[in-house]
Amino acid sequence: MPAHRFHGGLQLEKHTTGVLARPIQIAAPSVVLALALQQHRGLRLSASVRVGESVAAGQVLARPDLDIGDPRWGAWLHAPCAGEVIGIETRPLIQQPTQSGLHILLRVDGIDSVQAAPFDWQNMTREAVQACLARAGISGLGGANFPSADKLRVAVETLILNGAECEPWIGCDDGLLIEESADVLLGAQILARACGALRIDIALEAHMTRALAALQAALDEVPMPDAVPMRLHRLPSRYPQGGERQLIEVLTGLQVPLGQHPSDIGVLVHNVGTAHATACAAQGRALTHRIVTVTGPGVHAPGNFSVALGTSVADLVAQAGGYTARARRLLIGGPLMGIALPHDDFALQKGSNCVLVLDAVRDLVAEPSHACIRCGDCAEVCPARLSPQLLWQSTQSQRLDQARENGLMACIECGLCDLVCPSHIGLTQSFREEKQALWLADHRARQADDARQRFEQRALRLQREAAALEARRASAGKEALSASVVALAIAKAKARRIARPGEDGGESAP
Ligand code: SF4
Ligand code: SF4
Repeated sequence: MPAHRFHGGLQLEKHTTGVLARPIQIAAPSVVLALALQQHRGLRLSASVRVGESVAAGQVLARPDLDIGDPRWGAWLHAPCAGEVIGIETRPLIQQPTQSGLHILLRVDGIDSVQAAPFDWQNMTREAVQACLARAGISGLGGANFPSADKLRVAVETLILNGAECEPWIGCDDGLLIEESADVLLGAQILARACGALRIDIALEAHMTRALAALQAALDEVPMPDAVPMRLHRLPSRYPQGGERQLIEVLTGLQVPLGQHPSDIGVLVHNVGTAHATACAAQGRALTHRIVTVTGPGVHAPGNFSVALGTSVADLVAQAGGYTARARRLLIGGPLMGIALPHDDFALQKGSNCVLVLDAVRDLVAEPSHACIRCGDCAEVCPARLSPQLLWQSTQSQRLDQARENGLMACIECGLCDLVCPSHIGLTQSFREEKQALWLADHRARQADDARQRFEQRALRLQREAAALEARRASAGKEALSASVVALAIAKAKARRIARPGEDGGESAP
């Protein structure tokens, strides 16, 4: 048991028994897969295929659109199935349903997978492993979808493998660990190699009994030569323990300062699904499928499914038995941190871990909201040690600078303040929107700053080039001048010889 705990949090009733009752099922892909080029916020991909082109399963569809000199790796995008590219179109993004982005539309005509060459990670440098992971399309499967290779750039001492799946309805990591523990451990070793970690801490919650047993059994098997030491931690179930900062605090007692990254204190956190995808990549399989939990009182047959990226929510729900009469609200993710979808015509991407269909009883936003009564319950449960009530006041009066000062950017959007608020105020959604607005403002300011620096550097370079050209011209002029002086002297000497024949011992006229 760990000696530390994080501030706030709640113990929530789990709803994963039904999902874990069956093994992971293979879902049939949609007839047309829609693969988003916008993967993680702020990083674009450029299509490497044209409309009308036939592609093999596993073929690269898009690569990161990075400027020359950009230090990031990004994560490439591959075809989950063989087929024909029938369009590259703008569609709503599943992780930000109010925004749109380009998607590659792939009409599926075969599901054979094509293996890429495996890579020998044990005999490669850190950077070479990172490059292989970027080319295999590995990104965070816990939901953030951040390119893993970029996270691995900074060397750290401790790698934490996050299996503490804390949202009460999601069971994709639990199911994966039950069935694929050995590959998860192999992936952890590769990730440790890529970030230089000296130890690996694996964190699971106490209710994940079958996953804990499977992992312990895999750990007890003959260890790999030169393996980085691994320790398994069984944590008391408490939401949101799977949050990166919360998990680090529980395992190490260290808090990641606001505005800094876990790597700044020598720690890196990766999801167990990411570790599994990493092991697959080393065996020659790019990231083209992921495990998705389909669950809730609004679906007939909840379960975990291995899903081709780009498959539609509607097709996946149909394979989970379809909607029940109680279905009322559709979410991507869990009930607390999930994103509400207005309909099911969205395509699942790398960050889509759960399709949740709620009924009226469990719909957190069903109640009308009232004025804040200043009870303070929201501050008591907030794992980021914020005062959601004060943040709410700032965001409602559009005082975003004040909200920033009050720690808005530290909000992890866990949804606990909504859950306990007796006035049913939609605090989290408001914080999510304002954070996005601030992030966009910061991003634009950074872009403007970068553009200004580029302009200044270009002006300096042009100045330097002009000065160098001028110097070359001046030196060429001097050379030309001295050459003409020599030519003049020779001409004069010749003229003198003609005027005084035989003077220098040369031939004389008869
Ligand atoms: S829990 Fe709701 S009512 Fe209570 S202080 Fe927070 S915002 Fe106000
Ligand atoms: S959503 Fe944000 S403000 Fe609300 S409890 Fe979670 S971290 Fe705190």
